[in-house]
Amino acid sequence: MSIKTPTLDQLKETVALSHRILYAAGLATDRGHSSTRVPGTDTFLIKPWPHIQMCRIKADDIITMDFDGNIVGGKREGVTRVSEWPLHAELYRAHPELGAVIHTHQKWASMMGIAQQPILPVFGASHSDSVAEGIPMYDDDRALIRQKWQGELMVKVMGDAPALHLQSHGMAFAGPNLESVTIDAVNIEYQAELTWHALAIGGANPIPRYFTHRHVERRKQADIPEAWEHFWKWVDENPESYQVRGVHL
Ligand SMILES: [Zn+2]
Repeated sequence: MSIKTPTLDQLKETVALSHRILYAAGLATDRGHSSTRVPGTDTFLIKPWPHIQMCRIKADDIITMDFDGNIVGGKREGVTRVSEWPLHAELYRAHPELGAVIHTHQKWASMMGIAQQPILPVFGASHSDSVAEGIPMYDDDRALIRQKWQGELMVKVMGDAPALHLQSHGMAFAGPNLESVTIDAVNIEYQAELTWHALAIGGANPIPRYFTHRHVERRKQADIPEAWEHFWKWVDENPESYQVRGVHL
């Protein structure tokens, strides 16, 4: 089956949608950023600065940047780049196969990083695969990634992991496409929250590797998860419903 390469406009729509989903799922308000590589180029699409509330981000807001920090598309008056653009650029530069990167300050996963406690795969094998192999920790210089050298060091620490703790700062995520990385960010937050609550009432039993392994392998493929169309686009259209329920599924 051939996979059709999305147009630039379609990629910008996906980047905007990723931000709105992160907002709807309670992971971010106006800080944090999602990006996607423009296939076959050394450029990526990302939200600009000043921050726009994430529930309001539209495709027209998205700018194009190169790996050296230049805005090469979508620039408007008063618009510049987010300060942590090297977090995205150095991951793309180091991993040519990488299609998407996200940075958030999401509460539960960040808290587990602050406490230096593992986020355990506790709920659903297909939802917890992204934490099944552990999440590394970057703890240099208060974990801000605003310089090239910080990005290079972060890339080394992250390796091939789908997620990274930025000590006392938040999280970074990376993967083949923005749809799967967005869902990873949401899933990891849910596993972190449930791990904490389970530990608080007596203990958390991780799902055995036997059950998570095939999902770990599947996640490495470039497929867009079915949940993107069937659930998360609905969440974008019905954020109030999702937030009132306050649960992941
Ligand atoms: Zn940050």
